[in-house]
Amino acid sequence: MIDFSLTQDQLQLQQLARKFTKDEIIPKAAHHDKAGEFPWDLIRKAWGLGLMNTHVPQDLGGLGLGVLDGCIITEELAYGCTGIATAMEANSLASAPVIVAGNPDQKKEFLGRLLSEPVLAAYCVTEPAAGSDVSGIQTQAKKIGNEYILQGSKMWITNASVANWYFVLAYTNPALKHKGLSGFIVPANTPGITVGKKEWNLGQRASDTRGITFDQVKIPEKYRLGQEGDGFKIAMSAFDHTRPSVAAGAVGLARRALDESIQYARNRKTFGQPISSYQAISFMIADMAKDIEAARLLVYQAGWTIDQGHRNTKFAAFAKAFAADTAMRVATDAVQVFGGYGYSEEYPVEKLMRDAKIYQIYEGTSQIQRLIIAKELFDR
Ligand SMILES: Cc1cc2nc3c(=O)[nH]c(=O)nc-3n(C[C@H](O)[C@H](O)[C@H](O)COP(=O)(O)OP(=O)(O)OC[C@H]3O[C@@H](n4cnc5c(N)ncnc54)[C@H](O)[C@@H]3O)c2cc1C
Repeated sequence: MIDFSLTQDQLQLQQLARKFTKDEIIPKAAHHDKAGEFPWDLIRKAWGLGLMNTHVPQDLGGLGLGVLDGCIITEELAYGCTGIATAMEANSLASAPVIVAGNPDQKKEFLGRLLSEPVLAAYCVTEPAAGSDVSGIQTQAKKIGNEYILQGSKMWITNASVANWYFVLAYTNPALKHKGLSGFIVPANTPGITVGKKEWNLGQRASDTRGITFDQVKIPEKYRLGQEGDGFKIAMSAFDHTRPSVAAGAVGLARRALDESIQYARNRKTFGQPISSYQAISFMIADMAKDIEAARLLVYQAGWTIDQGHRNTKFAAFAKAFAADTAMRVATDAVQVFGGYGYSEEYPVEKLMRDAKIYQIYEGTSQIQRLIIAKELFDR
């Protein structure tokens, strides 16, 4: 039997996030976009309301909510500003490897930190010379006694300068290619870590993106996740947990673009009539609504599947690719609906269009999602 309705708890969560977005995020989104100021005040408030770290298991004191629950929250936050939502959501990405592979001590220490105060974490895989091709990274962790010495540079790391701890992927045995990669938890205050300048990106400017250099950084063996060589699997399986939520963010952005378009099309008149009366405009808006609905269903399916304990890699890639492409198209069409005003900072749709692009790039580009889908179809 199929049931498309949300539970009472999920509806309450949705209402809470929607109200927070309306009251707190939307009024401040333009400021954070223009100034590039990190939204610490909003993060503290969201954390206080229980809108962050909802995936941390109950036995650690967390809410232990599912991926689908997280998607419901993210769609709402992203409706207000995807830069701010990304700053909050980066915790889910950084902590997914710990949830997937952490031992009880690691979980207690690092997931516990996220619950005890509003701190952030970051996922550090990409490097200047390797993004999609994860096995092309060059960072190495050499074992000396009961420590690893970490050496290398990461690039494009969300929350780099504000994180309390990092998940870092590095080679412990480069000769084994991707089977020689290992995952580590690295406290951000460890000596030898230098964080680069804030990247001034096309969109999502409230989010903090920087490079990080690790120079002879000592990591105790107890901070290695799983066994040596498990890193690639850990880093990639984290995406099964987080891609549905990233896709939900894209849905939230697209929904905002739709709402702004409907409102504008009703009021803007040309040739004596509202532009909504022209089929060219109303069909463009009908297509937006249709694709958003389809994207949300894929998001829910990807979240639900993993919450049921099933492998969701293909569904997560469907959701991420479809929702990202939908967000980009819908936001671009929203600018079109607004005409010249759409191109101006005076209205919110130019920001939506700039913010949308990154959904086709981070957490695996739209091309990489198609590679994953094809691999699932042909190899499994
Ligand atoms: C704002 C922002 C935030 C980010 N946050 C993080 C973060 O927190 N942590 C982190 O680790 N990384 C982060 N990233 C990095 C992001 O995940 C990578 O940029 C992304 O995976 C693409 O890697 P790349 O930039 O090296 O592009 P490349 O891998 O060089 O790809 C370039 C182009 O080639 C295409 N391509 C590559 N290989 C193939 C192939 N085999 N078949 C077809 N097409 C292919 C890609 O789709 C893309 O269009 C972030 C990036 C940005 C911009």
